[in-house]
Amino acid sequence: MNSPTHQVDWVARSLASVWHPCTQMKHHEAYPLVAIHHGEGPWLIDVAGNRFLDCISSWWTNLFGHANPKINQAIIEQLKTIEHVMLAGFTHQPVIELSERLAQLTQGHLGHAFYASDGASAVEIALKMSHHFWRIQGKSEKKKFICLRNSYHGETMGALAVTDVALFKQAYGSLLQDVYVVMSPDARQAHREESSETVSQRAIKDLALCLQQNHGEIAALIIEPLVQCAGQMAMHSAAYIKEAAALCKQYDVHLIADEIAVGCGRTGSFFACEQAGIWPDFLTLSKGISAGYLPLSICLTRDSIYAAFYGDDVNQAFLHSHSYTGNPLACKAALAGLDIFKDEQILLKNVVSAQKIQEAFAWTYCDERIEHVRQQGMIFAFDVKKQSLTKPDTFSKEMFQKGIQEGVLIRPIGQTIYVMPPYILSDAEIEWMSAGIFQALNKTLNTPL
Ligand SMILES: *Cc1c(COP(=O)(O)O)cnc(C)c1O
Repeated sequence: MNSPTHQVDWVARSLASVWHPCTQMKHHEAYPLVAIHHGEGPWLIDVAGNRFLDCISSWWTNLFGHANPKINQAIIEQLKTIEHVMLAGFTHQPVIELSERLAQLTQGHLGHAFYASDGASAVEIALKMSHHFWRIQGKSEKKKFICLRNSYHGETMGALAVTDVALFKQAYGSLLQDVYVVMSPDARQAHREESSETVSQRAIKDLALCLQQNHGEIAALIIEPLVQCAGQMAMHSAAYIKEAAALCKQYDVHLIADEIAVGCGRTGSFFACEQAGIWPDFLTLSKGISAGYLPLSICLTRDSIYAAFYGDDVNQAFLHSHSYTGNPLACKAALAGLDIFKDEQILLKNVVSAQKIQEAFAWTYCDERIEHVRQQGMIFAFDVKKQSLTKPDTFSKEMFQKGIQEGVLIRPIGQTIYVMPPYILSDAEIEWMSAGIFQALNKTLNTPL
């Protein structure tokens, strides 16, 4: 079964029939696909029996490992009653319980949950709800959005409009709505002697100016609190979020916190916004919310916003829908994940794991090839200096491949190497992750040891 021949067979069949995401398929001539057979905790095992530590939680989704017994069991139990039923006109226990528990986690500030299946759809929902809310208030001119430089909010048309990553956007620019793009508080922009707080102040000034000039036509500001993940893990201070929220209030503009990547404990608190002591008007979740098991996304909002849509007129309602909205299996996986957070005191454990990760990567702080070493909870990242890159164009693909050879799954973004692992790594696995990345980097940069 687990023979290398099998691997070749699966790869050839995949290339002949599957169009893989975010990939120039021709590159697979030089960088072979990896055919995964099964998963065990934080490990992925390919069809030839090679093991890779999943240092990026399978695109930031998997919080408690693959084939987690508790989550498996919860889904099996759910399968015995109802696998799916439409959420229009019907309801069920998993969706009710999940909505209640999420509202509790926001201390009641975001009391209603609207469901979809992927992150980009949750962003679309937040954007549409925000505009529709203002329309109901008689302010239909408020239909534009502000996003940050280097932002990423997904790749459907509305979400892509508020995304500022050229790679994803350049081919489709002419199809997208115009948005205001303001300075990112990315702390890496600090000039000599400048602190990250000063960078954040500059970014706030830029936002304030944009709001002052255009607030009459702006529905919402959308941000990724604390870390712009797809934007090379660019990190900023909680102070930025606090001040941005205050400005939004002052100018009567909604704040959308896209916590699809940073939510679910990733940055240290369950929601990243908690570190700024604010609650946004809309908060989007996906990726980790179903622990990497099933497609699920949620847009949480305030009861006051929900109430604005409540009335006799059908056109005043939020008529958005997806076929799999509130899928019971996905909600059940999410509930099992929330149980693990509570029962295993994950947020407390992560404080210790984050410290261990920093210690294991101590070498990055004094490696001359590296700059901007940074960490926010369970995200650790650093950049390889431009002058150290031997082949800048293929660096991330080479690193991926060398990582696979060293038994670590990583997926650098440009010259940024990061780890965003499941919350269940042992100390030995954290060491393995650091050692594997060090070796892969040396081989990629061709540095003799
Ligand atoms: C991944 C991501 C999205 C999009 O989610 P998909 O499920 O890939 O559509 C949106 N916003 C942020 C911050 C993300 O990291």
